[in-house]
Amino acid sequence: MLPNWLFIVLIPATLMAAVLALILQLRQRHRLADEVQSRTRQLYDERELFRTLSHNTAAGIFIARLHELVAVNPALCEILGRNEDTLIGMDWRALVHPQDRATVEARAAARLRGDRVPARYAIRIIRQDGSPRWVELSAGRVQHHGHPAIIGTLFDINRRYELEQALRHSEAKYRQLVENVNDIIYTVSPEGVLTYVSPNWPELLGHEAETVTGRNIAEFVHPDDLPACMEFLERLYLTGKKQSGIEYRVKHANGTWRWHTSNASPLYGDNGGVEAYVGIARDVTDRKSMEGELLYQLRFTELVADLSTRFVRSYAEDIDSVINDMLARAGRFFGVDRTYFYMFSDDGTTLCNTHEWCAPGVDSMIQKSQAVSLDGYPWWRQRMEALRNRHDVVFIEDVDALPPEAAAEQALLRDQRVRTLYCVPVATPDRVIGFLGFDSLAPRDWRRDQGDLLVVLGNLLAAALARKALEEELRGLSVTDPLTGLFNRRFLRARLVALIEEYERTGRNFCLSLLDLDHFKQLNDEHGHLAGDRALQDFAGILRENHRVFDIVARYGGEEFVVVLVETEMEQARAITSRVLEATREFSFSHDGTVMPLTASAGLADISELPQDQRNVENLLQLADRRLYQAKQKGRDRLVAH
Ligand code: GH3
Ligand code: MG
Ligand code: MG
Repeated sequence: MLPNWLFIVLIPATLMAAVLALILQLRQRHRLADEVQSRTRQLYDERELFRTLSHNTAAGIFIARLHELVAVNPALCEILGRNEDTLIGMDWRALVHPQDRATVEARAAARLRGDRVPARYAIRIIRQDGSPRWVELSAGRVQHHGHPAIIGTLFDINRRYELEQALRHSEAKYRQLVENVNDIIYTVSPEGVLTYVSPNWPELLGHEAETVTGRNIAEFVHPDDLPACMEFLERLYLTGKKQSGIEYRVKHANGTWRWHTSNASPLYGDNGGVEAYVGIARDVTDRKSMEGELLYQLRFTELVADLSTRFVRSYAEDIDSVINDMLARAGRFFGVDRTYFYMFSDDGTTLCNTHEWCAPGVDSMIQKSQAVSLDGYPWWRQRMEALRNRHDVVFIEDVDALPPEAAAEQALLRDQRVRTLYCVPVATPDRVIGFLGFDSLAPRDWRRDQGDLLVVLGNLLAAALARKALEEELRGLSVTDPLTGLFNRRFLRARLVALIEEYERTGRNFCLSLLDLDHFKQLNDEHGHLAGDRALQDFAGILRENHRVFDIVARYGGEEFVVVLVETEMEQARAITSRVLEATREFSFSHDGTVMPLTASAGLADISELPQDQRNVENLLQLADRRLYQAKQKGRDRLVAH
């Protein structure tokens, strides 16, 4: 028999210890919950997320709710000549040129209503310094915190307008220069044989005049343009009248093609029939290349605008499919045979091909390129190091012209039938994570500025991947289930491992109950998925209410839940779990005014039931699962514990 005074001391002391332990547990749990919440908030803070997504893109990107800008990226600030702080919260109407304002406003309103509106059009904006600037606006509707909002991209198209102006200018000049010495005069027979060329032909096209006469135009005109030229001659023949306006490419002695335009008239012979045609041809290569340039810039602008918008909008969309689409479209745009994305291993010594696009008929390489070691390819290794450290591009203009030290690389590329390739780094703000590559199986001239365009695509991809990494990090960090707020399976596992260790060390007992809602599929089928979600939340509430704060209540998956009853023996756990089943049976689950009866079944296991050599998380869960199965077999709405 213990003396009474000992009880008087012991009882408050034990109570105090229990309260302290409880407070500590609570604190720990709150700290964890806070951390996860703040990470989530940080990531999903739209400004932060938006910045990550859109930081590297060449397009200006914004989100507007009604008239207010709620997110902008650096490229947009640059185009508008204003900083982010000024722009956020600003009424975008003030940024649009007064003459375009009514149009833009009407289209935005229509877009928010869900009407169809042209996806892309040119408008003028006003920069901070008051100067107007032409931009191309493309926009779409999104949900932003449950409200309809507009996401849009802006592209600076002043360059395009400058080019157009230069083009107009050159055309005016061209008209003035009729009768200029630069015109070639020629005569050609109805069969297409050149019978005379003026002395300036050698000056303009490199060949000697005497080597040209007597030869067919088919030897000089680009094969693609030849049918149109023959048709032109036929028209001359049939109408007997002067024809003009034909444009075609003529081969220069140095192997390049020059654009010419020509007028021609029939020459009548003594007998009144058409003997030959006399024509005046002019070199218009400069004008043509400017047109080509304009078209090229436009198409690239469109490509980047489209891809940027898709990357930014792909909140829910599978990012891999957007990357594959980007490779396909870039491949077609640049007219290459294969485009691909390689990622570096952390130490940079191994490469992995994660995405690829091949033109029709071109062999895929992705299967063979999963863990490519740089051993044996010292030349390539050096290039890769420069790409990683200095953001250098790798450009092999002609595989046949590789230096002797790149013999191994040359053999490999020849084996893959690659003639020329271009690789640009894909870099997040911290490091180069991989590269985008463009292979061509035929020789080709890379334009000087194309490398810059490839770099833009590399940046676009980097921004998208940075976002994917952030999302994955968040997923890895979270410990709760978003629907019910209960702990998730990952957290449960980690805690169970720790509890089993503690049991081994101290013998502190615990029990585990696995609970599954009965005929839940039927509830979903009858009342809908939303009603099902609501019931899951209500059931989570019942579990929380019927357990102590330091028990671990987790959503195991679908409509299965696990509760770990800490420092509890089987009998006590059985009573508590029975109470949960009873509370569930009596709870009035309802959705939209309809009451939905719902019960649960449970299997209970005690850690002390497992022999020492089999004491692990899997076996404990399996034991509970077997009993849950029995509970279902016996008719549901019951608990099986032994
Ligand atoms: P039993 O009594 O044998 O457990 O039958 P049951 O219908 O509950 O079991 P079954 O495993 O066939 O179906 C479980 C259903 O739970 C199927 C699935 O649609 C539903 N479910 C799983 N997760 C969710 C969720 O997050 N929300 C909703 N509403 N339903 C879910
Ligand atoms: Mg079920
Ligand atoms: Mg189930």
